[in-house]
Amino acid sequence: MALDDRNWFTEVFGDEGTAFSLKITGRLHAEQTPFQKIEVYQTERWGRLMVIDGCTMLTSRDNFTYHEMMAHPVLFTHPDPQQVLIIGGGDCGMLREVLKHPGVERCVQVDIDEGVTRAAREYFPELCSSNDDPRAELRFEDGIQYIKDQAAGSFDVIIVDSTDPVGPAEGLFGEAFFRDVHRTLAEDGLLVQQSESPILHIETLLKDLYQAMRGAGFTRVATLQFPVVCYPTGWWSATMASKGGDLTRFREEDARNKPFATEYYNADIHRAALAVPEFCKRLFTDQ
Ligand code: SAM
Repeated sequence: MALDDRNWFTEVFGDEGTAFSLKITGRLHAEQTPFQKIEVYQTERWGRLMVIDGCTMLTSRDNFTYHEMMAHPVLFTHPDPQQVLIIGGGDCGMLREVLKHPGVERCVQVDIDEGVTRAAREYFPELCSSNDDPRAELRFEDGIQYIKDQAAGSFDVIIVDSTDPVGPAEGLFGEAFFRDVHRTLAEDGLLVQQSESPILHIETLLKDLYQAMRGAGFTRVATLQFPVVCYPTGWWSATMASKGGDLTRFREEDARNKPFATEYYNADIHRAALAVPEFCKRLFTDQ
């Protein structure tokens, strides 16, 4: 069945021989910023859809699995996260999840493109509900440069919620960047980075990410796996890294008694997301 682009948004993953489509009723926004092309569509069944440079970023309906699984496992793994940095995350859904943790004193969000946050405020106001929290600091600059300018040990958790490793985000996946992250994190600090699809990228991006993180001095690396329906294959991951802390142990009681609501994350899901499929064991040997 041919899908006409009047009624369907389709993201094609040519190299992988797959595609993903959502039925749309119209395009609400299109903007070429100095960094990327931002579009927002109204879909029939998935709420609104944000697309950057033709890649699906999020839908109103399924963004919760991604935002929760990028934020809560790493925050419940850290003993007491107070200073948090988000690189990317311009849709502000990650900021909202981080600030649910009462112990977080400050969360700096550094996205290169203010156009993304403007579009999120207009079309995804539910993701921006914590933007005015006094602990939130929104900056619009290159995260690669920002991290270079930070004092050593200044953050407890750094979350890299970036677009795919092309264009402005390319440098966010390399060893030089991870060396700056390593320096900026406190001794018990933790990094988490969106690490694409295990079924597609185990031998490429994920393998390179492990090498780059370890080359930068992170001695423990662990990958969480979870569904993100609108991403390529729907099978997604986030990779955590530490300077020695055991990433398979977390504040399980705190997670079970969390003082805030989630739609996907809980202590059992956290534990399950760390389980390693056989085809990943060769790479994820650290866990
Ligand atoms: N969850 C989405 C995904 O996995 O593709 C990404 C969400 S968020 C919209 C991605 C953000 O990364 C974008 O807003 C983009 O502007 C930002 N970004 C890309 N390169 C960046 C850089 N070098 N510094 C800061 N933000 C960057």
